[in-house]
Amino acid sequence: DVHQLVKHFAVRSSRGRRQVVHAVDDVNLSLRPGRILGLVGESGSGKSTVARLLLRLIDPSGGRVVVMGEDLARLKRNLLRKQRKHMQMVFQDPYGTLDPLMNVGQSIAEPMLVHFSMSAAKRRDRVFELLDRVGLDPSVADRRPAALSGGQRQRVAIARALALNPTLIVCDEAVSALDVSTRAQIINLIQGLKEREGIAFVFIAHDLATVHHVSDDIAVMYLGRVVEYGPADRVYLAPAHPYTRALLASVLRPGEHNEDSGHRAIGEIPSPIDPPSGCRFRTRCQFAVDICAAETPQPMPMPGGGWSACHLNTPSPEAAVILTAEGF
Ligand code: SF4
Ligand code: MG
Repeated sequence: DVHQLVKHFAVRSSRGRRQVVHAVDDVNLSLRPGRILGLVGESGSGKSTVARLLLRLIDPSGGRVVVMGEDLARLKRNLLRKQRKHMQMVFQDPYGTLDPLMNVGQSIAEPMLVHFSMSAAKRRDRVFELLDRVGLDPSVADRRPAALSGGQRQRVAIARALALNPTLIVCDEAVSALDVSTRAQIINLIQGLKEREGIAFVFIAHDLATVHHVSDDIAVMYLGRVVEYGPADRVYLAPAHPYTRALLASVLRPGEHNEDSGHRAIGEIPSPIDPPSGCRFRTRCQFAVDICAAETPQPMPMPGGGWSACHLNTPSPEAAVILTAEGF
């Protein structure tokens, strides 16, 4: 359970002025065993910072992360270390975690060496068992990561994450570099682990279709805030927030203008340094009105579950007319 999570960084401008990067602001999330929470948004929206805060790889500026009843900020160092082994991360580039000079078996066994005392023979058995759980042949244990395909390397990274019996695995763009069919296989693997073993996943990607495919619930992030949240089908099939709709219509980058949808391209995500007042999406939103600059929109419950934080997502008839008339 994530409560009002905040992460600000201080930076200096080229003229030496102190500026604040609003990487994450007032994020609230919850995740249960055997569920997959999708976190989607453009790069720069704060998804990876949320991931690092969840695992307490960095300290929050405010708010709380409670894992299995324990507030991570209050845990003493040795207990935090224990707790952390239940939370693992899989990255886009498996070379971040797989040493190119070690063979796959050594890479998978390494976390066990650190955290468990077991004989070499036991460890070797466990490596084979983990390879089997991720759908790889035992012979892979003797190979170097470079000798594997991208999909196989990602399976190895997942096997390594499984080595410490995690309750939570955060996948940060873990399938983004894979081709479509390999991506589908890794997603099937993740869903199998969720269903058979009750592992909870946070699945981070910039592509809403992929996130919809794998997730039970989706949180849409924009410039450090969650702007829409709800059951995956509701968010994907009936998106309420203009940003979620723009993500689906792929109008967010010049050159990627989707001619068929009739939406205009709306440019790059602004800097998280001194983000826009009120609704952070207002500088790119075609529906923005005066109140959008003055007030931060609060989460409004949506039919079908979850919520959207937009001044137009009120039950008022005028808002409904504006949204329908603009072709959404
Ligand atoms: Fe657009 Fe205003 Fe809604 Fe923000 S609050 S998404 S600017 S209409
Ligand atoms: Mg990222």
